[in-house]
Amino acid sequence: MKYELLDYQKYQDRIAEILEDNNNVFQVIKQAPLVYTRCDFPVDHYTIGYGPKHLVVMGGTHGNEIIGVDFVTQLMGSIAKGEGEFAHFNPEEFTIDFIPLQNPEGFVISTTAIKKVIPDGTSDEEVEKICHDYWANFRQDDIDARANPQDRGIKRHQAMFASVTPDDLSDEDYELKESVKKLWETYHYPAGAMINWSANGSGVDLNANTPENPKNETMFAQSGVLTYAGSRYNNLPTNVPSPIGCPRKDADHFEFEPENLALLTMLTNLHESESFVGLFTYHGTGGVVYHRPYKFVDSENYERNNEINMEVANCYGDACGYATGGRSYLDEPSITGCGDLMRSYLPVVLLVELSVMGGNPIAPYGDRNTYAKTINSNKEAFAKALSLISVRSEEIAKNYISSSR
Ligand SMILES: [Zn+2]
Repeated sequence: MKYELLDYQKYQDRIAEILEDNNNVFQVIKQAPLVYTRCDFPVDHYTIGYGPKHLVVMGGTHGNEIIGVDFVTQLMGSIAKGEGEFAHFNPEEFTIDFIPLQNPEGFVISTTAIKKVIPDGTSDEEVEKICHDYWANFRQDDIDARANPQDRGIKRHQAMFASVTPDDLSDEDYELKESVKKLWETYHYPAGAMINWSANGSGVDLNANTPENPKNETMFAQSGVLTYAGSRYNNLPTNVPSPIGCPRKDADHFEFEPENLALLTMLTNLHESESFVGLFTYHGTGGVVYHRPYKFVDSENYERNNEINMEVANCYGDACGYATGGRSYLDEPSITGCGDLMRSYLPVVLLVELSVMGGNPIAPYGDRNTYAKTINSNKEAFAKALSLISVRSEEIAKNYISSSR
């Protein structure tokens, strides 16, 4: 267990440490990157095991959800070392595909903000205190936003990072820095909004980046009216490129971002060869397992996916004490995201909201006991879900579309 606020360098150091660990009982293999982002960051891909059943484990879709990246890398290290239940991991049965950081650009932006305010060398006690203050401010921002939803002034949690600007990004990441500077000059985000950077460096939110998202119909260029994110984020626009919520780069046509297109291609190829047995995608806060697909063209797969997703999600949720279900497009059409899209096509696609301490990116680090419990209980839940997937894998891997051809 490592209590550490990751930045991009620390993330790379941690991976290098895992790859070289002499205590590994299962080898971790570095694969070719899934894709390179527009600003030329690799979307890293590692595997453990060489079996025919591929389970994809992903973190960092939202740039400011660092605990997802933290958890996926720690899980990778634990499986490699055969810790606890993972002593029984069968590399001849499974290949676990790790994509620890789907959105490196957003991660670099938000962690640059963190590092300016919490520099290297800050003691764990001080880190915990700042993160706890952030958590409290974030809660208050939600309360204030409920009372005054039209107040789009700077939020308390943003004020803690108000000194951070795109100029703080490294000159070594020139393209990213120029992209964010240009977005900032065009759209005038509130001070401190670098801490809210869920999107990639083009200002597109990878979860919102799906053709079914109703926001595609209300882009500012068509409507002339800015829309904003909810509650504590109600000063961040969502229908222009933005730190959060924008579904596409160009107002006049939809396009998947490279980070999503590469993932969807990978999943489709695995499914077509009947070797896909699941996708667990780890997000930041909530303590919830989202599993509900929404009805989308192929109703046969919908029923199958719905049933198996629920079974695996309940197994996972029981093991770590998380609620399952979560809202989906069925409940609230305005929240549909890329997770919904994948769940509608494929079985065992779960989205886990990790920490019960709300406030990305740093509130999950505001209490070291809660943090440790989050990491450990999710490792246990993962191991239990993996056992269930092993039992149910024949049905999960079945590709009804290709077998009916
Ligand atoms: Zn998220």
